[in-house]
Formats: sequence, structure tokens, C-alpha cells
Amino acid sequence: MPIKRRELLKATILGSGAAISTINSKNSAAHEVNTQADVLIIGAGNAGIPAAIQASDMGAKVILIDKNSFVGGMLIISGGHISGANAKIQMRKNIKDSYEKHYQDAMRIGKYKANSELLALATEHAASMIDWLEEIGVEFTDESPILVDDHDHYSVPRTYVGTNLARSLLVPLKHELDKRIKRGDLELRLNTKVLSLIQSKNKKLLGESINIGIGKAISIKELTTKIAKITGYKGKIKWNSFPKRQLEIPRLQIDNSKAKKLLKWKPKYTLDEGLKITASFYKPKE
Ligand SMILES: Cc1cc2nc3c(=O)[nH]c(=O)nc-3n(C[C@H](O)[C@H](O)[C@H](O)COP(=O)(O)OP(=O)(O)OC[C@H]3O[C@@H](n4cnc5c(N)ncnc54)[C@H](O)[C@@H]3O)c2cc1C
Repeated sequence: MPIKRRELLKATILGSGAAISTINSKNSAAHEVNTQADVLIIGAGNAGIPAAIQASDMGAKVILIDKNSFVGGMLIISGGHISGANAKIQMRKNIKDSYEKHYQDAMRIGKYKANSELLALATEHAASMIDWLEEIGVEFTDESPILVDDHDHYSVPRTYVGTNLARSLLVPLKHELDKRIKRGDLELRLNTKVLSLIQSKNKKLLGESINIGIGKAISIKELTTKIAKITGYKGKIKWNSFPKRQLEIPRLQIDNSKAKKLLKWKPKYTLDEGLKITASFYKPKE
């Protein structure tokens, strides 16, 4: 079996709740190690690199693993087209757009097959992602945002194209990654292929799932009212404008007792304080 001839590295990732076995293609000596990290990310590609940067900026000890000898995944060859409504570049060009329009367009283009919750999340956060890419030095073509012909047209130009396709994203992303590695906030393991998740006999992952939250119940209505007050929203809120979904959760409560016990974690802010900080993040900067 090829595994016997190469290094079999067993990494037990504590805190992240995952255990994996990996193989290192560069080293033939077999040995076993235990590694501790808060977050383990498998795949240093389009998704893994920004996730590792974000997690390490939030204070987590991160290990990023890739089977290749380089980072980037498909960013090496992909087109580098990304879309988002109300990114700063689009606003500077006075193109009127909204998250809702982006969502509706993407639903239409995807023949209404997209997962509505995931699409809502993606369209709502797309602009801040594009703004961040611009901030770290990604160069988009002067024409961006454009209407692309790869799929049915959006209703307004909102697609950004890297000057050197996706490699325009990869170079600054790698630079950001390297900064965190140098600071010791992030560990990158290349030439390391993840073979399997290590599970116990009853198929449970070895590790812990830990909830982080304030520990008190709150309904969507209470939360919406708080957000409207904090942001000074004066419009009318249309309650029950969508039919209730199956298994709708009327109140959300997170049990944080495990986080307190295992991580010695406790909430730093009340919900109101946290909402105020979040609202100030979205407030347009003068
Ligand atoms: C030709 C082409 C053009 C494209 N153009 C666009 C575009 O213009 N716009 C757009 O939005 N999307 C585009 N895409 C799609 C886009 O590239 C992918 O959706 C995106 O890269 C997915 O990101 P990812 O991080 O999930 O995967 P990847 O970027 O593929 O990264 C996955 C990483 O995981 C590593 N890996 C996999 N298995 C293991 C393992 N067992 N152990 C360790 N490491 C592992 C791989 O080596 C890789 O580095 C294009 C794709 C292609 C092929």
C-alpha cells in the first residue's frame, strides 16, 4: 500500500473538533504527531486562503493544509470574474444596484435552483469581499464592473475582472497569507494530502463542537426591532411577508456552557453592544 511507503502523519486537531490523517509526499519516514489548532483548513485555494486569513485575524490558531507544493488551487487558472452589488468601485461609477437585485438576478440566472439562504448570504457579503480585495491590492480592469456574456446578463454591470484573471487575486492573497505566517499567526503545510477524517467507532468526529454566543434566547422580531433602533431605520417592517418555512426557528438560543468550560471563554460584549459595533462597520465612512 502506498501509505506504508510514505509518511503517515496523524494530526489530532484539538479545539477545532476535527481529527485527520494526512500523508506528506516529501518525506518517507513514518511518524505520528499531535497538533493543536483552533481552526484546521484543508485546501489552500480560493476558499481556504481567505478563510485562513479571516480566522487568524479573529485570533484563532490556524493550520492551512494543501496537497500541492504551492497555494492557490484553481486561482492559478480560473477566470477571476467576481460579482457583487454596491462595492465601492460600482458606487464610484454611480451604478445603482442593491443586494436584493443581485439576489433576484442570480436566482433567475440559476433557474431558481439556488439555495436561497446561501445565495442571500453570498450576495449580501459580496460587496465587502470585493472592497477588501481592492484594499489588499487586487487590480481589476478599468472597465469593471461589466456585464459578462458567460451567463444570462445581470440587470446592471456588477462583475469585476482581474487584470491578470484570477492570478490578480492570488498574488495579493498570498502576500496577506505570508504576512500572517511570518507573524506566527498561521501555519501552512504544503505537500500534505488529507486522507481521511478520523472518527470514533460510532462515526463521531473526534473533537468537540463548541457554540459561541450570548446564551440568552432572542426572537427574530426582537432582534429586528433592536437593529432598526440602533441603525435609526425609519421604514415600515413588513412582518410575515414570506410564508413560514418548515422547521422555522422562532427563537434562537445558544448554549455557551461548553465554550466557558473548555475554552474559558465568556462573551465580551452584550448583544446590544455587539450590534452597535456591527452597525458602525456597515455605516458609510465619511
Ligand atoms: C478554468 C476555470 C475558470 C474559472 N473561472 C471562474 C471565474 O471567472 N469566476 C468564478 O467565480 N469561478 C471561476 N471558476 C471556479 C473557481 O475557480 C472555483 O469555484 C474555486 O476555485 C473553488 O474554490 P475552492 O477553494 O473550493 O477550490 P480550489 O480553488 O480548487 O482549492 C482547493 C484546494 O484544496 C486542495 N486539496 C484538495 N484535496 C485535498 C486533500 N485531500 N488534502 C489537501 N489538500 C487538498 C487542492 O490542492 C486545492 O489547492 C473557474 C474554474 C475553472 C476551472
